[in-house]
Amino acid sequence: MKKIQMVDLISQYQKIKPEINSAITSILESAQFINGPEVKGFQTDLETYLGAKHVIPCANGTDALQVALMGLGLKPGDEVITPSFTYIATTEVIALLGLKPVFVDVDRDTFCVDAEAIKKAITPKTKAIVPVHLYGQAANMEEIMKIANAHNLAVIEDNAQAIGSDYHFLDGTNSKTGTLGHVGCTSFFPSKNLGCYGDGGAIFTNDDELAAQIRMIVNHGQSKRYYHDVVGVNSRLDSIQAAVLRIKLRKLDDYIAARRKVADHYDAFFKKFPGVKTPVRSNESKHVFHQYTLTLEGVDRNELNAFLAERDIPSMIYYPVPAHRQKMFSSFGSEQTDLPVTDWLTERVISLPVHTEMEQEQLDYICGAIEEFLTVNA
Ligand SMILES: *Cc1c(COP(=O)(O)O)cnc(C)c1O
Repeated sequence: MKKIQMVDLISQYQKIKPEINSAITSILESAQFINGPEVKGFQTDLETYLGAKHVIPCANGTDALQVALMGLGLKPGDEVITPSFTYIATTEVIALLGLKPVFVDVDRDTFCVDAEAIKKAITPKTKAIVPVHLYGQAANMEEIMKIANAHNLAVIEDNAQAIGSDYHFLDGTNSKTGTLGHVGCTSFFPSKNLGCYGDGGAIFTNDDELAAQIRMIVNHGQSKRYYHDVVGVNSRLDSIQAAVLRIKLRKLDDYIAARRKVADHYDAFFKKFPGVKTPVRSNESKHVFHQYTLTLEGVDRNELNAFLAERDIPSMIYYPVPAHRQKMFSSFGSEQTDLPVTDWLTERVISLPVHTEMEQEQLDYICGAIEEFLTVNA
């Protein structure tokens, strides 16, 4: 049996090696490493896939979030509502720009930001909401967009874990996550559902003016060569990464199907264990299983984590410390914010291996080991 990993990028590469190698070789031979035709080509391909009017590639997902906030013209002291139960990048960029992160709780079932909690956190200083489509399933965008529209707030979707997911609004519209709010952000970090072979990211929007502003910001605030209208950054996707992403974007739906198949297998297996809560799949959005995350009640997840490690099965805690309890934010006094669901989940979640190359033999081995653990410990 192949070694079990959280993601198996080597096996995935072996299957697309000729295509990838030839794409990379042609870039080496053209020496168009920056802003080459592959970047423009990827941008267009992704716009088509997402049904987004504008895709602006950039250097990584953290930059995407930062630049999106900069593009909206938020001012120091403005408040941005964000879940604490997320990867640090979501919240870090808010503070970096001199904005105030206002941490709110998440929904116990979907792990995503709680719309009622957003409502309660709104003040006259609130300017934006950053919902995170955590682990591959969309936040409650129906309610979030209603709240945002009623209070004139911008919505920046952190779609780094959910690219390719669909969302169904009650009015019958069906769109890709990342295109539901005013601006969407993603990461192409290698282990993401659409990952490249280095760093990469992108920003999506249907707003022409905002797109023009964001395009300028990622390129030193430049409106035409050597004329700089606003303070920007240097954040580019390079041609080699774009070429890899073009190939992998064509396979994204198959990759999602493979992840969902693994999730289905786990779901069926865990039915017999009432202390193990499997990921809840919402009716509104398609779960793309960036992570397969269990919530354990009456079972010690740290013991399970150690038990699996002894059997060469990796499992991960995403994330062991929620943002509001990070030292980084101590000047905001955010650890005093009462986020009971976030704290409760932080103690109980555990993510199991899920990727595009999982083999039945590996799944059986993982489930066998967990069964052994639960029979004794549940
Ligand atoms: C990965 C990730 C990011 C950051 O992306 P990088 O490309 O690593 O900068 C932001 N938010 C979430 C939810 C992520 O999972």
